[in-house]
Amino acid sequence: MKTVDIIVPCYNEADGLDLFYEETEKAVSRIAGYEFSYIFINDGSRDGSLEVMRRLSAAHPRVHYISFSRNFGKEAGMYAGLTHSTGDYVIIMDADLQHPPALIPQFVKAIEEGHDCAAACRSSRTGEKGLRSFLSGLFYKFSNAMTEVKLPQNAVDFRMMSRKMVDAICSMSEVERFSKGIFAWVGFDTAWIPYENVERAVGTSKWSFKGLVRYAIDGITAFTVKPLRMIRDMGLLLFLISLVYIFVVFIKTLIRGVDVPGYASIVCLLLFLGGIIEFSIGIVGEYVSHIYLEAKDRPVYIIQETDLTKGRSRTDKKENADDNA
Ligand code: UDP
Ligand code: MG
Repeated sequence: MKTVDIIVPCYNEADGLDLFYEETEKAVSRIAGYEFSYIFINDGSRDGSLEVMRRLSAAHPRVHYISFSRNFGKEAGMYAGLTHSTGDYVIIMDADLQHPPALIPQFVKAIEEGHDCAAACRSSRTGEKGLRSFLSGLFYKFSNAMTEVKLPQNAVDFRMMSRKMVDAICSMSEVERFSKGIFAWVGFDTAWIPYENVERAVGTSKWSFKGLVRYAIDGITAFTVKPLRMIRDMGLLLFLISLVYIFVVFIKTLIRGVDVPGYASIVCLLLFLGGIIEFSIGIVGEYVSHIYLEAKDRPVYIIQETDLTKGRSRTDKKENADDNA
């Protein structure tokens, strides 16, 4: 019997968790040879998600939860789940049923075919706002042009991974985590499984537009230092051009004397250079902020409550299961 941990980061998902558990159980109970457990991560919800998790955990021996002391973000939730998982395989999925449990049998099949990872990708983005789709497409193009890790467009955080791959991901202990990049960076053979985008079962998306922009900037700066090199090269180029220009002005002044006109060109140059300098400092600042946060080495999340000691060893789990039967 192979064991699989299903990690579910949850932020204000109380209304949907029962349905999520039911639907997922329906899909996984048909898969023979695998035992599925759940680790729900309560990411500082304020809507009673924790109570639902406690109830599910009390009722089902293979349901566990970790509750954070406040909202740490989905990245922290996934990391907590991965570091606490003990299964031979791990599945990460959203709590809102936007990640159809019906894909899990296909994941298992791909894994059995020898892949270390099976991951879902959206074949369509129906139900998503046009602007968000467009900007997200732009982000992938830009990010893939800039960084060495190639992020597959339309990939979502719904995947099944082998223990080997999970251990590799956990060994990346960076504080500011960008999982899409981390999944790609660790490598391993991934089978892509397309699915039709579905709308949320209940509740609303937890992403704000500002949050997504921040996520995109972090994603790029976490995996490449190319922007730093670009501003270095741009600075060098401007410096060389200015040397030529100074030489020209010097010779002209020697030959023709001083001429006063030129106000417009000077203002333009000042604005242009000022803009480039500000932008460059901004990019450097972005990296300095990453260094700052990593140097502080704060924990990615803080656990307030968990039931994870409950039945985590294989024998305990069996006993619990029998109790329940
Ligand atoms: N989530 C989380 N912490 C957060 C925001 C979201 O754990 O701070 C969870 C959320 O409960 C859901 C998943 O991450 O299970 C995806 O979030 P959401 O559905 O809001 O994102 P979208 O599907 O719009 O990308
Ligand atoms: Mg969602």
